[in-house]
Amino acid sequence: MIDFSAYGVKTPEVYAVKCPSCGKLHYPAPMICNKCGERRDPSGVIFKDWETVSLSGECKLLAWTRVYALPEGLDMQYLLFGIVEFPNGLRASGRLEVDKPETGMKLNARVETMDNSKGKEFDGFIFESF
Ligand SMILES: [Zn+2]
Repeated sequence: MIDFSAYGVKTPEVYAVKCPSCGKLHYPAPMICNKCGERRDPSGVIFKDWETVSLSGECKLLAWTRVYALPEGLDMQYLLFGIVEFPNGLRASGRLEVDKPETGMKLNARVETMDNSKGKEFDGFIFESF
């Protein structure tokens, strides 16, 4: 992977957040911790800051599927879509770039800036074999 940070370009990343009261990790970030009820304020003004934890690296494939109903403009037959679990217990979904996916296989999660079908950019996961 090319390191763009040297060029002043932000490397795409996906974060989990850590509840400051009970320490539970959440992804995606909730407005209220479902374990202890602590509130999160994305502006960081009213409530305590929630620590962010970068998500990437080794993970395990929990489930996967082929999606054939693709949005217009995608020139491929189907996309593979997977749900993985990280060593810290967090689960995330994203695109799977593996020839023969098998439940339980170890994968590498990396983050890429993607376009959604409405042309808006977001940082999403790509899961690939090591
Ligand atoms: Zn909590």
